[in-house]
Amino acid sequence: MTDVIVIGAGVCGTAVARELSKYKLSVMVLEKEEDVCVQTSKANSGIVHAGYDARPGTLMAELNVKGNRMMEELAQKLDIPFVRNGSLVISFEKTASELERLYEQGIRNGVEGMKILTGDEARAMEPNLSKEVKAALFAPTAGIVCPFELNYAFAENAAVNGVEFRFDTEVKNITKTGNGLELDTNQGVYRAGYVVNAAGVYADVLHNMVSGQKIRITPRKGEYMLLDRGVGGFVSHVIFQEPSKYGKGVLVTPTTHGNILLGPTACDIENREGTNTTAEGLSEVREKALRSLPGLPLDQVITSFAGLRAHEDGHEFIIGEAPDVKGFIDCAGIESPGLTSAPAIGLYVADLIAALAGPERNPQFIDTRTGILDPKKLSVKERNRLIRVKPEYGNIVCRCEMVSEGEIMDAIHRPVGARTLDGVKRRTRAGMGRCQSGFCSPKTMEILSREWKLAQSEIRKSGKASGIITGIVKEDRKEDSE
Ligand SMILES: Cc1cc2nc3c(=O)[nH]c(=O)nc-3n(C[C@H](O)[C@H](O)[C@H](O)COP(=O)(O)OP(=O)(O)OC[C@H]3O[C@@H](n4cnc5c(N)ncnc54)[C@H](O)[C@@H]3O)c2cc1C
Repeated sequence: MTDVIVIGAGVCGTAVARELSKYKLSVMVLEKEEDVCVQTSKANSGIVHAGYDARPGTLMAELNVKGNRMMEELAQKLDIPFVRNGSLVISFEKTASELERLYEQGIRNGVEGMKILTGDEARAMEPNLSKEVKAALFAPTAGIVCPFELNYAFAENAAVNGVEFRFDTEVKNITKTGNGLELDTNQGVYRAGYVVNAAGVYADVLHNMVSGQKIRITPRKGEYMLLDRGVGGFVSHVIFQEPSKYGKGVLVTPTTHGNILLGPTACDIENREGTNTTAEGLSEVREKALRSLPGLPLDQVITSFAGLRAHEDGHEFIIGEAPDVKGFIDCAGIESPGLTSAPAIGLYVADLIAALAGPERNPQFIDTRTGILDPKKLSVKERNRLIRVKPEYGNIVCRCEMVSEGEIMDAIHRPVGARTLDGVKRRTRAGMGRCQSGFCSPKTMEILSREWKLAQSEIRKSGKASGIITGIVKEDRKEDSE
């Protein structure tokens, strides 16, 4: 019997797990996929929202602003990239009434430092903005974070503090027992005193397995285009247009790694795995992004992708013990600003469980984590010294992003390490560049195969159904027959 089982290793589940590891509790994370950060947490805008969007008085508004305030210290402790670059909501209207509404809402939510600017003032900050922009809401507290690194950092730090992770473990059913909850999975039965439901777009399915008070989540797809780092200087702030009833609209933003991201669209769908992009979606992204910044270098698109928001009917975070199921804690309906709010959601859920279970604090809790060593951040002298001691740092595997074999080995061997090509890519950026892994994937496969002692035919791109090769056609068939 485990004290707490968290379902889902996205940014919310891992933030909760890390906060729970500050207590003397046994904590386990069950994840149906092969890794951390494989669903919504890997495909979003990476914006740390200031907090003027959410309705005042909601949990969404409270946790947005709180999460935003926590991000700086957390980024330092967990060694992840975070930049407070500020955002502009631009308006093409003569009257700035929507901006004023957002401003008032932001004030009520506790957002600091906002200002309504004229079009010219906004263009002075962002010279590539359209001449049609009449006004803008500037929010200096908005920022950008690397969504992958935030998720991995939570998971690694939780693991170092004793949290167990079980991958490829799908919860199929949940039942109440006399002293807790029983989870049927494809890997057997697990029992826990408390269960945290952080299952993203599946959170309603899990909630409805055990609670009579049903909730409904609709996957709301958002499609994106990513521009090459070569044009990274084109914008420096996060540029939003005025929001619509479907959300914050198409934005243009720099990323923490120097690319430019355009999107997302917003379209309700039924398929909870429907992360394909569409011609219509991408042309909407192009058209709307060009309205904000007409000179956008769209010939520099290197990839497109889509993510699914877990849109709950009431458009509110549902966080708390289900009223009719003792010990079942929902963390559901976590759509945007869920990434921003994740640190605050982790704290909120851990406080709730601590109040219910009364555990002691864990005096051994380690609250820092060191990210993957990036030789590019070292001086030439330091880099040379590193390569002398560990020659694998001198072997560049991904030429677009200049990622070395040493970084890939670090990504594989650290706590909750990478087991797939995508796992390596999100942790190190090998394959994230202009060639989109055309060059480095065979080399990364070799390293994965060598380090995990698996045949190359067993190396996956991501999950189970994503095998890359079926066998070796020329020479060296030995490893496959072993
Ligand atoms: C297009 C888009 C843009 C966004 N932009 C932003 C932004 O800029 N800023 C911001 O703050 N937020 C943003 N968000 C929201 C943010 O990305 C999400 O709120 C956040 O990632 C949700 O994290 P999660 O852990 O709840 O869900 P997920 O990351 O989806 O994790 C849930 C996990 O549960 C697992 N799971 C599901 N069912 C089971 C089961 N039965 N058994 C075991 N495991 C299971 C899944 O495999 C998954 O790994 C955006 C979202 C989208 C889609």
